[in-house]
Amino acid sequence: MKSVKTKGILYSLSLILLAVLPLGFGAYFSFKKILVSEVNQAIVRVAEETADHLNSYIEQFIAPLVGISQNEQIISMDWPLQRDILNAQINPYYLSVAVLDSKGNAHYVDETTLDLSDREYITEALSGNISFSEVITSRKTGEHVIMVAVPIFKDKVIQGALIARLNDDFLSDFALTRGYGENGRAYIISDNGAFISRPQQEKDDTTLNIYEAAQKDNSFDAFAEFVQNSNSKQSGFGSYAFQDEQILMGYASVHETNWKIYVGTVEDEALDNLIHLAKTFIGLIIVSLIFCSLLAFYVVRRFVKPIVELSSLFAKGALGNLTVRFMPKSNDELGSLGQSFNRMMDSIKTLTQYDPLTSLLNQYVLEKEVETLVNSEGSQKLSLIMVAIDKFSSINNSFGYAMGDAVLCEVAVRIAKCTPGDYQLYRYKGDEFIVMGTKFPVGDELYTISQKILAALHERYQIKGKNISIDVSIGIFLWTEETRAEEPLKAVTNAMNYARYIGSNQIQKYNPLIHANLLGIRQLQTDIISGISEEQFSLVYQPMVDLENRKVVQIEALIRWKHPKRGLLYPDQFIDLAEQNGTITNIDIWVMNNVCKQIKAWKDIRQKPFIISINVSAKTFEDKKFVPIIVDIMNQYGIEPSLIQLEITERMAIKNVDESIMKLNELRTMGIRIAIDDFGIGYSSLSYIIRLPIDSIKIDKSFIQNMNKSKEARALVSTIISLCKTLKYNVIAEGIESIEELDYLKENECDVGQGYYFSKPVSIEELVKNCQAG
Ligand code: C2E
Ligand code: CA
Ligand code: CA
Repeated sequence: MKSVKTKGILYSLSLILLAVLPLGFGAYFSFKKILVSEVNQAIVRVAEETADHLNSYIEQFIAPLVGISQNEQIISMDWPLQRDILNAQINPYYLSVAVLDSKGNAHYVDETTLDLSDREYITEALSGNISFSEVITSRKTGEHVIMVAVPIFKDKVIQGALIARLNDDFLSDFALTRGYGENGRAYIISDNGAFISRPQQEKDDTTLNIYEAAQKDNSFDAFAEFVQNSNSKQSGFGSYAFQDEQILMGYASVHETNWKIYVGTVEDEALDNLIHLAKTFIGLIIVSLIFCSLLAFYVVRRFVKPIVELSSLFAKGALGNLTVRFMPKSNDELGSLGQSFNRMMDSIKTLTQYDPLTSLLNQYVLEKEVETLVNSEGSQKLSLIMVAIDKFSSINNSFGYAMGDAVLCEVAVRIAKCTPGDYQLYRYKGDEFIVMGTKFPVGDELYTISQKILAALHERYQIKGKNISIDVSIGIFLWTEETRAEEPLKAVTNAMNYARYIGSNQIQKYNPLIHANLLGIRQLQTDIISGISEEQFSLVYQPMVDLENRKVVQIEALIRWKHPKRGLLYPDQFIDLAEQNGTITNIDIWVMNNVCKQIKAWKDIRQKPFIISINVSAKTFEDKKFVPIIVDIMNQYGIEPSLIQLEITERMAIKNVDESIMKLNELRTMGIRIAIDDFGIGYSSLSYIIRLPIDSIKIDKSFIQNMNKSKEARALVSTIISLCKTLKYNVIAEGIESIEELDYLKENECDVGQGYYFSKPVSIEELVKNCQAG
């Protein structure tokens, strides 16, 4: 049994049945009781009336006999006299009348005489009582007869008796008419069980006694028992079984005789009305049941409707349809259940569809929507922009997770501002966000949006009193014939990873080549560690020259990788990759070690060492153990700190200015020099640079190379130089390739220069040789 509705209907019907049936049966049985007692009283009444009637009939019947018995001539007991009287008085009711003498001999008018002294009723009569015989066989005619005997008294002394024969048919008819009901029967039975009268139907049965009848035919057993039990009572009623029927029977004694009248009726017949009543009852019960069922159906359906509705809503919700809501129609518990359901669905929707941190739609929703789009005809309209924060973990590491969360929220807000209304923004994974378009992009729309996002995310973040900046990488996926076979989310992730590989703050559109490239990139990344242990890396050195006297003042160590399969690799081909997978710190430590080894080697042969400048990557610089590691290595080789210069970029230095200042101060206190590398291409403001404890500034080679192309570049370089002079920094110009560049820099009082014009990066042996030659 599944549905609440069926249960409700069945329960209520059971309740109705439970109420109606006992009521019906109770009423039926109490009616039956009343009716049976009514019938019983009625049959007893009929029996009594019949008894009275029979009594008066008998009285009437014997009255003429009693009158004759008092006749003088009869009393005389003189037969001839008596005969005359009998002849004259013949009563049509008496079939034959005779005078009985005191010896029991009966004298008939036809002059026959019979000895009846052995008959019971004769003895009774001769003892002075009016008596009736039972049904006996007449000795005179051989017929079944009932005899009545009236004693003849003379001065209260019995002289004899008058006897008359009764036709038992008369009594039978009498009894018959007194039956109760259509098939009712009446009997007259003496105390001995003799049938005085039987109903017409039983006339063929010659048995004269009920007990005899019971012996012959056991269907009379119960009747015989009933008769026996009634023997001692004047009147009463009861019932007994007779031939598959229950007979209700009343009885009453007939005065002056030892007879009883039994009036019986078939119970079913007597209770015919009751059966009728029962049928009516059953009919009524059925009608009321049908009515109640319909009512129950209607009421239950009405009550159960919201439950059924809720159950189907729950089922839909369970299948993932979170838009279903219940419309409460009542204020009862069901109504509030419905409202709770709605609130629950709202919460589930929020929990399952929205990212709790940024309140943006989440990865789950994005993946589902992309999947539906891909499988629909609209797949060609799908476009994706993935924005990922580079090295996001370093924000968590440096400032804690609360700061990381705050940055993510701010990034979400900024991307949202750049997202057009017909695009949707999602938080994908961790530090990745995705902007999805579902219409054909117009022109370079996706690129324009990406650039806006890039610019917006590049603005510095003022969060919790900190001022930080981030780098991002952006990938674009657009449906084309070429990209149709790709999984859009994987493709856009690859594009973003590729953008990250080519450098920070890049935008990369997906094309199938990227995938292959990325595979190569991954391989290269895994090769780094083995490359270090297998001594595949080496250092080359490029001199920094005093522009006045052309003397080498410092040299910069630059790394090279002799890859067993790919040949000689330049830093641009692997430094970023090493930054991405974290192996850059291993590289930086390797460089530091090798630089120190070189200085020690010079010291060992007592040659004047060069000050060596080392490039430090962001990840290594941000490491809390950065300073101790440097100190440790220098101590290991016994190197004076003043022989080491560290090159860091502006971005690295100002990412977390306060911490940078602390570290740089520590290093400078030891005597280590600090140079800002690639100066000018960063986005830092001067106010930050001024605060940094540094020794030199290396003007990025792009400015030097632009000098001969534009007046503005020249102006910018001279401004930077004079600014650095004011701030008392050494100025080093990178990438000097021509005499013109050199002249301009000298004119503007630049101190030191570096570039192919002086020397390409070369091995240490070559560099030393060149210096000696120069
Ligand atoms: P950087 O620190 O700016 O290094 C100077 C780069 O400019 C070197 O490229 C050098 O070969 C190149 N260069 C020097 N003079 C000229 C010139 O006149 N014209 C032109 N076009 N280029 C010139 P390189 O060696 O390929 O290094 C590239 C970058 O890789 C470096 O830029 C530096 O940021 C990084 N790098 C190099 N070695 C290391 C290292 O050992 N550790 C780390 N962390 N980064 C390194
Ligand atoms: Ca450098
Ligand atoms: Ca540089």
